[in-house]
Amino acid sequence: MLIHSVGELIGHTPLLELPIEVPKQSHIYAKLEMFNPGGSIKDRLGQFLLQTAWSRGEINAHTTIIEPTAGNTGIGIALAARQLGLATILVVPQHFSFEKQTLMKALGAQVINTPDEAGMQGATAKAQALAQTIAHAYVPNQFLNEDNPRAYETTLGPEIMADLAGKKIDAVVIGAGTGGTFAGVAKSIHAVYPTAKLIPVQPQGSILAQQPAGPHRTEGIGVEMEPPFFAGLPIDSVQTISDDAAFGWVKRAAKEWGLFMGSSSGAAVAASLAVAKQLPEGSNIVTVLPDSSERYLSEGIYD
Ligand code: PMP
Repeated sequence: MLIHSVGELIGHTPLLELPIEVPKQSHIYAKLEMFNPGGSIKDRLGQFLLQTAWSRGEINAHTTIIEPTAGNTGIGIALAARQLGLATILVVPQHFSFEKQTLMKALGAQVINTPDEAGMQGATAKAQALAQTIAHAYVPNQFLNEDNPRAYETTLGPEIMADLAGKKIDAVVIGAGTGGTFAGVAKSIHAVYPTAKLIPVQPQGSILAQQPAGPHRTEGIGVEMEPPFFAGLPIDSVQTISDDAAFGWVKRAAKEWGLFMGSSSGAAVAASLAVAKQLPEGSNIVTVLPDSSERYLSEGIYD
């Protein structure tokens, strides 16, 4: 395959039928988003957000992009900003992985850390405040921007259906941080398979989980507010996964399948298996594995 820019490598990732025994002889199909060039699903988002803002005339060659991010969106935005030659400032709560923050800087972005206690809302407030002080600043704001779910509704959902070549989809089981991936994929798949169950995955401690809200180690998912993108979606139920279950699958995936995946992917696998138990025999469940374990090695993901 001859290509002429790294941007051409974004999307069209493989769909893996998980090589495990699934309850009730059902099937779990997982989109391997760690194979995007920036190493995560968020390359799709960075490319879509900046290309659409550019085509609408909201940004130009003089714009500085400022975004609050847990890391992967920052890498995706920095990658897309490289292609357009734009300056980028990323606001990241302190504790998010060293590897992700290093990669953002390698792509030429400036990284500003905010205190962990303030969460993503603290990072968002800091990004908005910075934007007031910098000329030609643009904050895509993945938490509110409708182009976030649209990025997946127009790429990832249709790709999954094309990969499955007409196989009926019975459930969409996808982790939610901003909720963009879940909402976009759910919307596109539900339009074709209206009986598909729509099930977001949350770590224990999320405000959507059944237990009291609190901290969790699973990185990238867990909402701090009800995502606006969920409005109008016929969500069936929320599947809550413990950190232990998520990290357990991270280790098994490497040992048994030869696949390096991050903790939100571990949660997605655990949730898909739990959903398989609740659905009829022979169901087809689709999920997404957002990134690789390699960007969490310093956090001891395999310890
Ligand atoms: N997993 C990882 C590793 C992520 O970085 C993110 C984005 N925060 C998600 C899952 C959730 O994606 P979304 O924001 O689209 O809900």
